[in-house]
Amino acid sequence: MEVPQLIKAFSNETNLQILSILRSGSFNPRELARILQKNETDISRRLKALERLGLVEGRWIRVGGRNVRIYSLKVGEIKITFKPGSVVIQTLKEKSYEIPLPESRAPAVENLFGREEEIRAITSPEKRVVIVYGIAGIGKTSIAAAVFKNAFWYQMGEMDSFESFMWQMGLFLNTLGYRLLLEYLRGGDREEKAIYEIALEGIESTEAEVVIDDLHKCSDDKILHFLSFLAGRIQKGKIIILSREKPNLGFGEHILYLPLGGLKIEDAYKMVKMENTSIDLQKFAEIYNLTKGHPLALKLFTEAYRNNREISRSNIFDFLFSEVYGMLTEDEKFMLQLISLFNEPLEYEAIRRLYKRKNVFAVLYSLLNKGVLERRGELYFLHDLLRGFVEEVRDISEKKYYREYTDYLLEKGAAESFLRAFGYAVRIGDSEKIKELITLRVKKFKRIIQDFPETYMKVLVQIGDNPYAKKELGHIYFQKGLFRKALKLWLEVKDEINGIHRADVVSSLADVYMELYEFEKAEACLKEYEEILKSNDDPEVKLWYYIELTKFKFYMEKPEEALQSAFKELEIVKNLETYPELESLVLLHIGDIYVSMERVHDATRYYLQALEISKAYSLSFMEHTVYFELAKAHFHLGEYEKAVEYSRKSVDYFLKVRNYRRAAGSLGYHCVSCIGLMRLKEAEESAEEMIKIAQSTDYPLGWAGYIFLGAIKNLRGEDGSEYFRLGKEKLKDQKWLYDAVWEELGRVYNGGKR
Ligand code: ADP
Repeated sequence: MEVPQLIKAFSNETNLQILSILRSGSFNPRELARILQKNETDISRRLKALERLGLVEGRWIRVGGRNVRIYSLKVGEIKITFKPGSVVIQTLKEKSYEIPLPESRAPAVENLFGREEEIRAITSPEKRVVIVYGIAGIGKTSIAAAVFKNAFWYQMGEMDSFESFMWQMGLFLNTLGYRLLLEYLRGGDREEKAIYEIALEGIESTEAEVVIDDLHKCSDDKILHFLSFLAGRIQKGKIIILSREKPNLGFGEHILYLPLGGLKIEDAYKMVKMENTSIDLQKFAEIYNLTKGHPLALKLFTEAYRNNREISRSNIFDFLFSEVYGMLTEDEKFMLQLISLFNEPLEYEAIRRLYKRKNVFAVLYSLLNKGVLERRGELYFLHDLLRGFVEEVRDISEKKYYREYTDYLLEKGAAESFLRAFGYAVRIGDSEKIKELITLRVKKFKRIIQDFPETYMKVLVQIGDNPYAKKELGHIYFQKGLFRKALKLWLEVKDEINGIHRADVVSSLADVYMELYEFEKAEACLKEYEEILKSNDDPEVKLWYYIELTKFKFYMEKPEEALQSAFKELEIVKNLETYPELESLVLLHIGDIYVSMERVHDATRYYLQALEISKAYSLSFMEHTVYFELAKAHFHLGEYEKAVEYSRKSVDYFLKVRNYRRAAGSLGYHCVSCIGLMRLKEAEESAEEMIKIAQSTDYPLGWAGYIFLGAIKNLRGEDGSEYFRLGKEKLKDQKWLYDAVWEELGRVYNGGKR
């Protein structure tokens, strides 16, 4: 192995993230890019480089007539030994390692003065929840960063939402070996209670430390609720919350609220002395009185004092900062103004792009050295306190730079940066750009509606009265099951928008009418869509039509026509190539249509193709949905062994990701198939699991467990009637479900009483 290249590969955080994700299985570059919120081309390039270094292994698999590349981890650990005259590198398999993620890394603290008592208090093992609060610049971040170096560090921003918070948390826990949270979020479920429980379990089982910085900026109530929940339950992990205002996260022995004041006089003296050896004691006493040991003020003072001017007593900050600012070069001022435009930390590359002058590196480092700029990992920012001052003297055009930054973010090609870019476009109020971005969302960032609905919604509601934005809001409502709300918005904007967006609305209207069982209206929408198709030959626009048509024909119980339409979908989707989720979904639907035609053998053929694609692209939720359908199909074919095998897989997965609706369904087929094989012990376990689900979620299918238990009793020669009675009683309001359960059970068992 090439030593320098290897070290170079390891010094890159994205590479480390990739390796960390691959620990949990094989991945296709596309899904990896989605998980890491990076550009797919970039991820592919990195994977190839890591492959050359022997760290990962790529292989081609053939799916649906084309080749798909998937990667897995080749080594578990690397050991580098320095020997006289040589460096030995050994790779060891199956060892774990921890990798901090760049976004979630604590800022580096070079010199921390004083704070011994506070550190003792916050590191106390009895305190699992620590809330440090105090004014800006008082040193909250510094103290936590100095102590909790390996913590998951979440820097709160105004636009942050619960889902992006959890996504980051999922990535972090994944690096600690806890995979479930990420897996759950990837599956597309957003059951809040489940997320709370899973995140708590992840933090507890890995004994993770979590720091939330600047909580006062949080505008998402869901994050605050989650933190209160965590504060009430945490026992092994630790959460540290930093905020300007004191939040209320409840009370208890294990919760510590720590107000943070200035540095003690002796520590403040050491701090000032280090920068400024010439200061005399009297001068120092004066400045300490004015600043009360506020560290940021002291830092400014050490810069300003070089001028040796008298210090104004009124508004010390203004005075100190204007002194420091006055001494900066033109280039430094310009860079500070630039950075002050953004209320998020910027990457070096972004600063370079915006600043454009040649000396970017020198200027940036000079500002860092003067203590006016701060750095966190690869990100640079102006302390909030100073940003306010720079804003007042700023004389550069906001719009110009926001526009450039929007383009910069868009080039990254990831959903998260897309959303940030969108935020800036909204701030500029550029409606053309907004429309352009919405087109991009529809074409390229389809998953945003599922993955980041809340974040997207926050951006959209700021736009105000814009038909395109309203159309997008409709999609979010639809996704949440708020069909009437979606319908209202779509009807409102239908005649105001054009091109691909009109097609989007009309097909969505057909969809929502079907959800509301208003089939005549759905049909009218399909007719209207046919008009659109006459003047639009975009394959995707065509695809949307067939998607709705298939659904419509299926509902109308015209399976032959549904099938025909579904094959059209398949043909288009295959040509679009980059759309594997949809391809597997279409295949799954084709299977379902065949099942409804009682052509179960044909159905399994298509299910297997759907399975192949979902496995190749690491779409685990889809993969297990297919297992469930396969289990059902094999059960109906009387192939119980296979039905047991497939249903076991889907049971395990859906229980794991706490999707109890699907878990109960899978358990049901597992149970009846086991009964078919007279494997009564396993059947009994599944039936009991179903009842447990019903007891905790009230999901009706779970109660069928009683009926199955009754059958199992009877088959053992015991009396099952009490269980039958219980099952009937619990399902008394779901007659159709009760009958359906008996119908399936009847295939393998014909005793019992109804
Ligand atoms: P806050 O998080 O309360 O806004 P920071 O931790 O960002 O405050 O501190 C503001 C500035 O003061 C930073 O530049 C930091 O380096 C410096 N600082 C804070 N506390 C100390 C300390 N104990 N010793 C040295 N520098 C400090």
